[in-house]
Amino acid sequence: MHKLLIAATAASLLTSALFAEAHHEEHKKHWDYSQNGPTHWGEFSKTCAKGHAQSPINIVPGKSVQLNPQYTLNLKEDVHTTAKVIDNGHSIKVTPKEGGTVQLHGETFKLLQFHFHGKSEHTVDGKRYDMVAHLVHQNPKTKQLAVIAVFFEEGKNNPVLDNVLSGMDKEIRIDPADLLPKDTSHYFHYVGSLTTPPCSENVQWYLLKEPVQASKEQIEAFRKYYVDNERPVQELNDRAIEAK
Ligand SMILES: [Zn+2]
Repeated sequence: MHKLLIAATAASLLTSALFAEAHHEEHKKHWDYSQNGPTHWGEFSKTCAKGHAQSPINIVPGKSVQLNPQYTLNLKEDVHTTAKVIDNGHSIKVTPKEGGTVQLHGETFKLLQFHFHGKSEHTVDGKRYDMVAHLVHQNPKTKQLAVIAVFFEEGKNNPVLDNVLSGMDKEIRIDPADLLPKDTSHYFHYVGSLTTPPCSENVQWYLLKEPVQASKEQIEAFRKYYVDNERPVQELNDRAIEAK
């Protein structure tokens, strides 16, 4: 009898604890792509609403200038590693145990993670690609970020995407270099921001001109998770877009 009572009390305490947790969650605001979507992101970080160097943008190739050679991108992404795949509530994110690096203006940036958007965030002459991968790199000394965007268009099956989509919540073996197109020497470059809160600026953006392909089925499979996780394009203001 006594034991039963303790068990019942413990169970009811647990229930109320869970209820309090759920109740708390319900009232804590999170940014998203619907009710708390991009027009509300200023409530989460002022930079999202007030920044003057925000991303994504529409790239107008005809108005781009020649790349300053100090911003030439040298890719060393070819690292065979294991990586964790998670659905973080905003995208599907892959975190390699050992990331590759990129070199620009004499500094080394290390790959922290890559993730996908169900449509490209940047547009080129107003064209939105079917999907995009963002490879997020950081300079360990200055903490500055450099993001490489790989556009996807519908076509043949993409083995990396298969690997990621079938590896949800698991650890997979991957070589992030396999995500890149054959031609990585032509790209657009400009300085922008994170495309999600806190929308921090001073991010080096590299948008590879050559897209990679993914099959219609793969694009649909990804969009079962996320279809509208792209921020609208932002004002260019006085920024230059460089091209190589
Ligand atoms: Zn992104």
